[in-house]
Amino acid sequence: MSISEKDKRYVWHPFTQMKTSEDALPIVRGEGTLLFDEDGNSYIDAIASWWVNLHGHAHPYLASKISGQMQVLEHIPFAGFTHKPATDLCERLKVHLPSNQQKFFFSGDGSSAIEIALKMSIQYWRNKSEMRTRILALDGGYHGETFGAMSAGARSIFSAHFNDYLFEVVHLPFPSNASKSIDALTQELEKGDVAAFIFEPLIQGASGMRMYPAKNLSELISVAQSEGVLCIADEVMTGFGRTGTVFACNQLSVQPDFMCISKGLSGGTMPLSLTTCTQEVYDAFLGDDMTTAFLHGHSFTGNPVGCVSAIASLDLLESDECINAMKRIASRHTEFAEDLRVGKFAGLLEDVRFKGSVLAIELKADKSGYSSEVRNTLYSHFISQGVLLRPLGNVIYILPPYCITDEELDKVYKSVLSALERIAI
Ligand code: PMP
Repeated sequence: MSISEKDKRYVWHPFTQMKTSEDALPIVRGEGTLLFDEDGNSYIDAIASWWVNLHGHAHPYLASKISGQMQVLEHIPFAGFTHKPATDLCERLKVHLPSNQQKFFFSGDGSSAIEIALKMSIQYWRNKSEMRTRILALDGGYHGETFGAMSAGARSIFSAHFNDYLFEVVHLPFPSNASKSIDALTQELEKGDVAAFIFEPLIQGASGMRMYPAKNLSELISVAQSEGVLCIADEVMTGFGRTGTVFACNQLSVQPDFMCISKGLSGGTMPLSLTTCTQEVYDAFLGDDMTTAFLHGHSFTGNPVGCVSAIASLDLLESDECINAMKRIASRHTEFAEDLRVGKFAGLLEDVRFKGSVLAIELKADKSGYSSEVRNTLYSHFISQGVLLRPLGNVIYILPPYCITDEELDKVYKSVLSALERIAI
């Protein structure tokens, strides 16, 4: 049986509409930004494989570090035991994180990192015998697929079947306008008992690469923190250079209490995530017995293979080559965005926005959102052009691995232009 036949028979893919979805494309190999199918056709991975890939596919340096670690120690329980890859990774990350982030809790994916931050925030207040229970988030936010993460996220088609099971979260207005969000936050703070405030800093990914100023977020955080509210920065998507700095929080004038990082953490090779927090948060969990301890641990917590991959990925990320590549991509995006804004397709566009290596082109559409009709037409068009772009509803976005070449970027931009040409007809 071919890969496709087996796939059809057995595999349940995310987001498939069961009866109408197209067959999954069997990918047999990756190299740099390219993915190759069974017939040798190549596709430029212009979405970094769902935002995880930083340095390209099957990177020899990452592969050699992973392979080396596999032959020494593949996994151990990360309770009562520790290992050098985990402790070295914490040390390496500390250099890039806001200086108040002192403690590192490992897990395996972004949603788990979020669950952990939420659970820690709730328990923090209980450990301090202060009954703060309410969670604030931002309108349009997305924080993952598990119940706590879904609760923190905006209610949408993704959560529709589960809304009755989610805990209540107050969603503040999207902070493109600071005063509106601050007013809503102040009102919530006046009501009291707010435990935590969670947000995607600078860019909301899944809701369409919606961008907002660092200054507005800094204001929100400082107002929340003035009332003791624990602020959770969900850097699952924005981490590792996506917004132009290693973390989006590096652009803020304040520091969050928690950070959740995943996706690019391992360079896109292995499932790995971290919830980082301040010493003050950590200290609230110390006690004489288990009642104040954080009783949470995943089987693959602190996986050493993931950790060595993360360290190797940082080696590459910190190199001049990668730093220059990020700058190059940002300036190419800026030029392309300017061209689009004044070009012949400007009338089709609701908005063109960019930050760091993320470019988003929002099309005017009757029905926006993930299920927008135009999305499927666009996706098939890009694939036919040898480009992997998965529009978020009516928002086409480009978020490539940093190793993408100028020629490959040209091809991606051209595929966007030809898609717009098709829509214009
Ligand atoms: N937070 C954000 C901002 C995300 O974009 C995602 C995933 N797209 C998650 C959390 C959840 O991460 P994971 O898919 O690894 O569970």
